[in-house]
Amino acid sequence: MPSSAPPVFRFAPSPNGALHLGHAYSALVNQQICAAIDGTCLLRLEDIDQTRCTPELAQQMLDDLTWLGIDWHGEPRRQSEHFADYRRALQKLRADGLIYPAFMSRGDIRRMLAQEVDASPDENWPRDPDGSPHYPGDERNWSLDQQQAMLSKNQKHSWRLNMAAALQLVPDQLYWREFEESDPAQSRNIPAKPELWGDVVLARSDTPTSYHLAVTVDDALQEVTHVVRGRDLYHATSVHRLLQVLLDLPAPRYHHHDLVIGPDGRKLSKSNGDVSLRALRRNGVDPANIAQHFTFAA
Ligand code: GLU
Repeated sequence: MPSSAPPVFRFAPSPNGALHLGHAYSALVNQQICAAIDGTCLLRLEDIDQTRCTPELAQQMLDDLTWLGIDWHGEPRRQSEHFADYRRALQKLRADGLIYPAFMSRGDIRRMLAQEVDASPDENWPRDPDGSPHYPGDERNWSLDQQQAMLSKNQKHSWRLNMAAALQLVPDQLYWREFEESDPAQSRNIPAKPELWGDVVLARSDTPTSYHLAVTVDDALQEVTHVVRGRDLYHATSVHRLLQVLLDLPAPRYHHHDLVIGPDGRKLSKSNGDVSLRALRRNGVDPANIAQHFTFAA
């Protein structure tokens, strides 16, 4: 991305529950940095999970953001309306031989890992930064004919990135650029470590994309130059950087901000009604004073 490109930010919540103080903080940091460098802020609804993301929750989310005084440019992009874009990206990866259909269910994976642990109790099975085990199946080594034979049986599956094959195609060390809120014009290289994730899921038989694929494709299609999001997504950026290279997409800069926690010191969740923006609104909190409610993780 040429540095002369006009700054474009995006706030990208998932309407699968009520927005809480953590979302408010993220939206406000986006808005503040964006205003400071004369950028444009977009809104994206990450609603690929069509069972949990409902139109009612999406509307409530828009109402909460309006109450908070968050403005965005143009119509929000709803990921559920753009599945063709993600399919296209997936097809490119498939044509390049970088993804494979994986047929083991979560239960199959659990059982297989239990056997592995019984067989070699001293060896830790590798886990990704979110704590999920790396995929233990061997479909990545199957021939295209074998894959096709299973696919034609209409078995449920996910499409996984063949991480080892992908790493062959990129420079030995990939970096992303990280900037700080106080000085968005400066940024530094952070080494990306996509290998920590193993063969990540990029799509499922019933949903043509995963979070990682959709976020990477959309940041490029929306010409986002500055991604501002919580530190909980810091490690995910390694996967996004890898996908940008594999898909020939430009790389935005990133700022991973501190995480807001609850008054009880625990992580905020969408099921915790007390910290929802809707509850604060009902309790008469003035949105101009919302910052008084932020508590940060140490
Ligand atoms: N949709 C994600 C979430 O609500 C955020 C994605 C992103 O900012 O990259 O956690």
